[in-house]
Amino acid sequence: MKTITERFLHYTTFDTQSAEDRNQTPSTDKQLIFARYLKGELEAEGLEDVEMDAEGYIYATLPANTDAPIPTIGFISHYDTSPDCSGANIRPRIVENYDGSDIVLDAEAGIVTDVKTFPELLAHVGEDIIVTDGHTLLGADDKAGIAEIVQAMVWLRQHPEVKHGKIRVGFNPDEEIGLGAQKFDVEKFGCEWAYTMDGGEVGELEYECFNAAAAKYDIKGVSVHTGYAKGKMINAARIAAELVSMIPETDLPETTEGYEGFYHLLSSSGSCEQASLTFIIRDHDREKFQERKAFMEQLADRLNAKYGEGVVSVSLRDQYFNMREKVEPVRHVVDIALKAIENVGVTPLVRAIRGGTDGAQLSFRGLPCPNIFAGGLNFHGPHEFLPIPSLEKAMKVVIEICKLTAERGK
Ligand SMILES: [Zn+2]
Repeated sequence: MKTITERFLHYTTFDTQSAEDRNQTPSTDKQLIFARYLKGELEAEGLEDVEMDAEGYIYATLPANTDAPIPTIGFISHYDTSPDCSGANIRPRIVENYDGSDIVLDAEAGIVTDVKTFPELLAHVGEDIIVTDGHTLLGADDKAGIAEIVQAMVWLRQHPEVKHGKIRVGFNPDEEIGLGAQKFDVEKFGCEWAYTMDGGEVGELEYECFNAAAAKYDIKGVSVHTGYAKGKMINAARIAAELVSMIPETDLPETTEGYEGFYHLLSSSGSCEQASLTFIIRDHDREKFQERKAFMEQLADRLNAKYGEGVVSVSLRDQYFNMREKVEPVRHVVDIALKAIENVGVTPLVRAIRGGTDGAQLSFRGLPCPNIFAGGLNFHGPHEFLPIPSLEKAMKVVIEICKLTAERGK
């Protein structure tokens, strides 16, 4: 049997980088090369109903090994890697029995993962750690998740004495460009609930994220020769700046943390004649989120009262919602994961995500889906690393969840 490390290292030989602004799924053809390989591996390992659709979404089943009534659950990972950093010719290396010092990735080029910048390394002294050669990302986000799920399914097949219900696995492209969940076939997946194996540090469990919306302002000015402008000119660019100054400085991404929400100015452009501003609005709390959106509308009203009706118009668009409200009513989904993490000897780290997740989208489409650690750190860059014990523990968490779900029954 392949070790989980061998499995993961083999996955890293495939370049699966996704790309923004492409009109196809997956966004890059090279993702399909890995998808086809992965489909073959699932078949070779004896999973059933292994299916890959034209867009690279892979679904497979580990059948139940008992007649007891047990809910069908699923595990999900994405196989694309971030557009932020190359994923071609990844040359992983294992630092054995890490001693707590800086890790030289490329001596000649002077690329070093130093403890001062990356203190998270110190939690992994004494462990074997997979690192890059300093020129690519590692792709533990999220091929570690895939290796963990596949290895757990193989282990369960080899241990028929461990009883479990029907388990589904799902692997998707294009998560890094925010499109992973969109085309995920929740109905075909057919699970009561699922988990994405896509978090970072060992122990992480996430089932809260932001509520998210975008606000776009259009400001119409009146351009007049500056020498004759008095009482006539309406300078759209200047009104845009005034609007930005009305956003409280306490409510920005750069001044908030934890459960504090914010307004973020994403882009601005303008001239005397016309200006536009785009903001994103974020808050974990649904009520405060609504208040924030109302505030954005009030800004337009206040400026219109000052400069004239129709000068400032705003359109608001919801982007995603906090999955907590979908997970809370089925609290056992979280409790099972917490217990599973404890059962493998790890202290759970429950965190509210200051962003979104594929699991949030899936939760609102009827598949409650918290996110569990996959074990890698410093994602999306050459300093990404993966402690092997974290990889193994995440795999064991998958197995534990299957066991606990079977014990709980319907
Ligand atoms: Zn990921």
